[in-house]
Amino acid sequence: MTMKSYLPPGFIVERDPNRCVQCKVCVNQCSFGVHYYDEDEKVVKAHEQNCVGCHRCVAFCPTNALTIRHNPLEYRANVNWRPEVVEDILKQAESGGMLLTGMGSDKGHTIYWDHLLLNASQVTNPSIDPLREPMELSTFLGRKPDRVEFDSAGKLKTVLAPQVRIETPIMFSAMSYGAVSLNVQKSLARAASELGTLWNTGEGGLHPSLQRYAANTIVQVASGRFGVDADYLHNARIVEIKIGQGAKPGIGGHLP
Ligand code: SF4
Ligand code: SF4
Repeated sequence: MTMKSYLPPGFIVERDPNRCVQCKVCVNQCSFGVHYYDEDEKVVKAHEQNCVGCHRCVAFCPTNALTIRHNPLEYRANVNWRPEVVEDILKQAESGGMLLTGMGSDKGHTIYWDHLLLNASQVTNPSIDPLREPMELSTFLGRKPDRVEFDSAGKLKTVLAPQVRIETPIMFSAMSYGAVSLNVQKSLARAASELGTLWNTGEGGLHPSLQRYAANTIVQVASGRFGVDADYLHNARIVEIKIGQGAKPGIGGHLP
C-alpha cells in the first residue's frame, strides 16, 4: 500500500487522449511508477505525485502523446521562504530524509573550489618548466617574530615560536561530527594526510579511529566543550580555540 502524500505534485503529466493509443510503453518505462493502467476504465493514468520530471516517458511514447510540465504552484510571497525552500522542507518533513542532488548544489551558489586560481605572478623568477624547476607552495602557520637576528656566521639567533608546515596553502575548514558523518570526517582526515595539509574536527569531538591522523588534525575547543578531554587535545597538531562562529544564521547554533 502506498502512503498518501500531502505534498503537491511537482510536475503535471499531460496525456493527449487523441494521440494516446494505450500501448503502455510509458507504464513500462517509468522507473517511478507514475503511469499505470486502470483495468476498469481500460485507460492509462498517472500518479503525478511520483513524477520527477525526467522525461523518459516522453522520449519513449511512440505517438508523442505526453507532455510533462512544472506544476505552477503559488506560495505566499516571502523573500526568505521562497517556494523552493518551502517545498524542500515539506519533502524532508514527509520523507524524514535528506534531499540529495548530483553535481554539487542545485541552488545558484558559486562553487568556489572550481574558481580557485593560484596566481604565481608575484613570484620572483617563476619556473618556466615546473617539472625541472619545481615550485613549492608550502606554508608555515605560527606566530611571526617582530624581527629576526642573525649571528656573525649568518645563523638565525631569534628563537621562533612553534611553526606548523603544510604543503599547500589550503586547509579544510571545521566541520564537526554531527554536522557531518564519521565517514565524511574520515575522508577529510585521509585527504588531509595525503595532501600534507590539515583537517579540523569542529567542536564535536574526535572519534578514536581518527586519532591516527593526529599529525594532520586541528582539534577545536569551543564553549560547548563537546568531546574535549586530554586524549582529544593530545591527538592533534593544532588546538583551535573557537571564540565565535560565522557559518550559521541566527546566533551561533540557535537557528531562526
Ligand atoms: S506511451 Fe504514449 S501512447 Fe503509449 S500509453 Fe503512454 S501516453 Fe499513451
Ligand atoms: S517524466 Fe520521468 S518520472 Fe515523470 S512520468 Fe515520465 S518517466 Fe516517469
